[in-house]
Amino acid sequence: MTPVPVFIYHSVSDDPEPWIAPYTVSPKAFVEQLDRIEASGRTVVPLRSLVAALRGGPPLPDRCAVLTFDDGHEDFYWTVAPLLTERDLPATLYLTTGAIRVPGGRASGSMLPEAPMLNWRQVSTLDALGFELGAHSRTHAQLDTLPARRLADEVKGSRADLEDALGHHVRAFAYPHGYSSAAVRRCVAAAGFGSATAVVNAFSSAQDDPLRIARLMVMADTPAERFQQWADGRGAPVAPFPEHLRTRAWRVYRRVRSSLGRPVAC
Ligand SMILES: [Zn+2]
Repeated sequence: MTPVPVFIYHSVSDDPEPWIAPYTVSPKAFVEQLDRIEASGRTVVPLRSLVAALRGGPPLPDRCAVLTFDDGHEDFYWTVAPLLTERDLPATLYLTTGAIRVPGGRASGSMLPEAPMLNWRQVSTLDALGFELGAHSRTHAQLDTLPARRLADEVKGSRADLEDALGHHVRAFAYPHGYSSAAVRRCVAAAGFGSATAVVNAFSSAQDDPLRIARLMVMADTPAERFQQWADGRGAPVAPFPEHLRTRAWRVYRRVRSSLGRPVAC
């Protein structure tokens, strides 16, 4: 299996709220990026195909890519889904279930600042259209800083929220902010998830961990040349690689901030 770019997007919009703007690409840039993926000869495959290959199942086509979208921004429904459907491209959408609105009403609550988010009716429609829905916690907390009971509520609770709404099993999870630890990954596996995606900014590979799949984050300022390199299979390391000491030190710092009630904003 050649290294696989698993792209992570958040919002696709010309008019994002300021807090999400650095993580937002314009619809024009998004279309150009889809063109680059296709022109590079890659087949966009569902995340579940990558997971199956990582677990020893059917191999993937020689050159492929995966599209993922985090948080549950409403522009997935109005902008992204039509563009992907037009090209018959699969994608996985990870929802922060506490940010998803009851139609015509409010959400149960999350740590994400205000932004137009999906409602549960739109989520059901996207499910019916064939997009894979995954969980992204209930409140978007930094899971590796939480005590065990809150961690379980975020992980198992978000799965229950989605399964109640969709009426079928949900197997995919994405760590908010990309943060996980061995304890978080054990909790995700125990909750019944078959895969979890991180950020890492690396290509996934046959040796990647299905509970810590590497993704490449596409941001507002990602240069076209950089995206082209990723589409060509260059310009980023290949996962897995051992957790860097600095990552561990950063986690300790975030845990202290979190215990003081001042989590690090991302
Ligand atoms: Zn997120």
